[in-house]
Amino acid sequence: MKAAVLYEPGQPLRVEDVQLSPPQAGEVLVRVGAAGVCHSDYHVMHGDMAAPLPAVLGHEGAGVVEQVGPGVTSAGPGDHVVLLWRTSCGHCEYCSVGRPALCPVGTVMRGSGLLADGTSRLRRNDLEIRHFAGVSCFAEHTVCAEQAVLKIPEDVPMPIAAVVGCAVMTGVGAVVNTARVEPGSTVLVIGAGGVGLCAIMGAVLAGAARIIAADVNPAKLELATSFGATDVVDSSHEDVVDAVRELTGGGVDYAFEVIGLTHTVEQAVRAVRVGGTAVAVGIVPTGTTAQVNVQQLVMQEKTLKGSIYGSTRPQADFPRLFELYRRGRLPLDRLLTREWPLDRINEAYDALLAGTVARSVVVP
Ligand SMILES: [Zn+2]
Ligand SMILES: [Zn+2]
Repeated sequence: MKAAVLYEPGQPLRVEDVQLSPPQAGEVLVRVGAAGVCHSDYHVMHGDMAAPLPAVLGHEGAGVVEQVGPGVTSAGPGDHVVLLWRTSCGHCEYCSVGRPALCPVGTVMRGSGLLADGTSRLRRNDLEIRHFAGVSCFAEHTVCAEQAVLKIPEDVPMPIAAVVGCAVMTGVGAVVNTARVEPGSTVLVIGAGGVGLCAIMGAVLAGAARIIAADVNPAKLELATSFGATDVVDSSHEDVVDAVRELTGGGVDYAFEVIGLTHTVEQAVRAVRVGGTAVAVGIVPTGTTAQVNVQQLVMQEKTLKGSIYGSTRPQADFPRLFELYRRGRLPLDRLLTREWPLDRINEAYDALLAGTVARSVVVP
């Protein structure tokens, strides 16, 4: 099958033929319907985030199950599924307390680039190729753990299901699950790319009274307004913190950093009012640290927290997100601005980095 392989950071993806072995016990074979062009893969391509290489990248996907290995009970051939890039076991301490995104089973898989039994299903001739995030969906097919797929309604288009599988869950979940934004509150979203727009949609769903979007790109701010931002700050020539304080008379209740830069994380903490919460969502390069005024954190009871994969509880959250989409309350058709064939994946990343697409998908 055709797949997009990364051999070394700094190199383009190579779309080439690789061999995929059939699913083993507890695994499923999925024909990929669509795969989202997400920044997280780019962090690996660029070397900001380590992953075992060579690997087939792609972690935001959806498809149709074609075959299952022995013992698989939750999905069967013909089922439409969303791919979950944080595989969880369902019975460890984190899974038991409703925080499966922190499950160590998925962490081991992501760290090794191997499936649960410690082996790979991907090869190119004699060379073993790793699975990225247990998903590897920049490919025509993927084999992944049963726990990495979740059945979805068949009427949801594959590109929509794919972006719900990462960007939407991450952005909406940061607002609704991680921060638990309350109706009537004030929200700042720094970074109006794909995930940032999803955070804005999440703030609309949560009933935020005021949603301020900050970005350096005026076109993205226009898009942010169309998704529900009530105010915008062009941070290319305005200080975000000053602007937010002026707009709100002291700061927002919740600030979301959705870029992955040190200074914007610091801005998020400074932009929240007394008692407010700043949430770091963007992925920063490994080892990055930020400066926080700790005395203010204490005296003003501010909170700084991280959010990964929208603190998802997949079995509860994904059906809700798909239902909100079907009822028109998550305007995801407008988020998806382009589809690419797999062999143009490097161009798709160029477009993402240039900011000419909010979110696009590869259709293998
Ligand atoms: Zn992603
Ligand atoms: Zn677990």
